[in-house]
Amino acid sequence: MPSGGLEIEQLIQLLARLPGLGPRSARRAVLHMIKKKEQLMLPLSAALDRAVMAVKTCEICGNIDTVSPCSICSDPRRGDSGILIVVEDVSDLWAMERAAPGQVRYHVLGGVLSPLDGVGPDDLNLDMLISRAPDCSEIVLAMNATVDGQTTAHYITDRLGPGIKVTRLAHGVPIGGELDYLDEGTLSQALKARTQI
Ligand code: ZN
Repeated sequence: MPSGGLEIEQLIQLLARLPGLGPRSARRAVLHMIKKKEQLMLPLSAALDRAVMAVKTCEICGNIDTVSPCSICSDPRRGDSGILIVVEDVSDLWAMERAAPGQVRYHVLGGVLSPLDGVGPDDLNLDMLISRAPDCSEIVLAMNATVDGQTTAHYITDRLGPGIKVTRLAHGVPIGGELDYLDEGTLSQALKARTQI
């Protein structure tokens, strides 16, 4: 049942569609914004307006930025390593960039192959990846450790063919992880991917 006016309810419903927010947290967020109208709600509204006008999808890598090619693709130092990291989603690109800032280039697939959801090769940003591959010294497939992610990684490896160095992220024991709590799949991958000290 609506506890505020129509505009407020609409705002709550829209916010509740964001990842990580349900109706309850959306309601709390909206109340908080209304209480801080000058300090928070007005600047947020203005920032949203500006972002709507400014966001662009990079024509080369699929990253989201305010320019295309994006600031990562147009950074000349990144070409030096020749390493291209392939990720499923822009959020994965940003996560990788937080882990290793300023060193490599990226390619966003925009999803993974998923026969069940009707996602085929034509639905992914694959042709651009194949055309970028010859300029790379190494292509790192940083798909999620899911069945679809790994299927996609195999498919890309086949499409790239021989002559291009293709690697994938190590799967294993997380930092701070206790062996006793890990599932067998993770533990057996960690054992296979062991390294010399
Ligand atoms: Zn880019």
